[in-house]
Amino acid sequence: MSVFDHPEFDRHEAVHQFHDSDSGLRAIIAVHSTALGPAAGGCRRWQYADSADALTDALRLSRGMTYKNAVAGLPFGGGKAVILAGDDAPKSEALFAAYGRAVDSLGGRYITAEDVGISVADMRHVAQQTRYVSGLPQTGGSAGGDPSPWTALGVFLGIEAAARFHLGTAGVKGLRVAVQGVGNVGLNLCQLLHEAGAELLVADVNLQHIERARERLPVQVVAPEEILFTDVDVIAPCALGNILTPASIPQLQARIVAGGANNQLGGEGDGDLLRERGILYAPDFVINGGGIISAAYEYLGHSTEAQVRGEVERIPERLRAIFFEARESGRSTNEIANALARRLVAAGSAANTHAATEGSDAA
Ligand code: NAD
Repeated sequence: MSVFDHPEFDRHEAVHQFHDSDSGLRAIIAVHSTALGPAAGGCRRWQYADSADALTDALRLSRGMTYKNAVAGLPFGGGKAVILAGDDAPKSEALFAAYGRAVDSLGGRYITAEDVGISVADMRHVAQQTRYVSGLPQTGGSAGGDPSPWTALGVFLGIEAAARFHLGTAGVKGLRVAVQGVGNVGLNLCQLLHEAGAELLVADVNLQHIERARERLPVQVVAPEEILFTDVDVIAPCALGNILTPASIPQLQARIVAGGANNQLGGEGDGDLLRERGILYAPDFVINGGGIISAAYEYLGHSTEAQVRGEVERIPERLRAIFFEARESGRSTNEIANALARRLVAAGSAANTHAATEGSDAA
């Protein structure tokens, strides 16, 4: 099937495929939109069932980044990279060097950073090959570094806002929260929730990550196939996407779904299923924007951690506006958020075209 016929193709500007024989690298970089600036978004390394699944992920994730960056007010478009993990392509310096060369070959149309399965150390290898990279260690209060604590902070503040809006509580104290996936984002989120007095249930398919969570925090461990359906106030998906579907939604017991994972909904219509069940859904690309805010400020330079914090702290107000509009209009929160993002991209795109035309007139 050609990419143009793919059900997730959404007028992506470019979809690149890379192969490196020496390291075994197989990667897809999808540039969804550069209307607002260079396409920025993380790189995911995952063992996909097949390369078609990897393409689907890249197409969906890159569009999500366009929306995320627009709603966060960042001067970036949306893109995403996926690296196909496998026995013939283990994590190595050579693999990330090859990936770095792939990113560099796009000449700045795509800027990479960490996502699932990628560490700051991996990004350092990438950075030896390209300057179009973010999420690198910083010193002295400068913006940047591992984006996941910032993602977790935004998600935590978003959960608080959702609880206030939907449950009428003062915060998360005493609430039961189920966290699916205790990787970089999920574990940082657990820490914040615990400090704020929430009770934690967690699940992960990686037993080392479960052990790490158990050592650090008082958590109740639940089987991965049960975590979404536990009797809790809030579900915080922090693993992979496509988990809120016509099959899973009827079985949810939580009244709020608010987490860091990208592409939580199987499809746009699943937001209506959540709304009809009285479950408040915090649109993923709005609540999980903290990491890209940090990565973007790092990339732009001359920014401080305090500025990043200030921007991440604006996530709850963005969510509240979406929650109110959804309630007033009887539409789903994801529909409202998608419409907002599309409006912002269209407006930014028109403004850029106008500026370019003025520039050429002047020349
Ligand atoms: P990570 O790889 O550090 O953690 C993901 C965790 O989910 C892993 O521990 C993995 O074992 C677990 N997992 C996978 N499938 C699972 C399942 N079926 N059930 C339970 N656990 C499962 O990745 P991360 O950086 O923490 O990202 C988590 C999610 O947040 C992803 O969807 C990612 O795209 C999204 N996100 C991350 C950032 C960031 O700053 N890292 C920013 C925005 C969005």
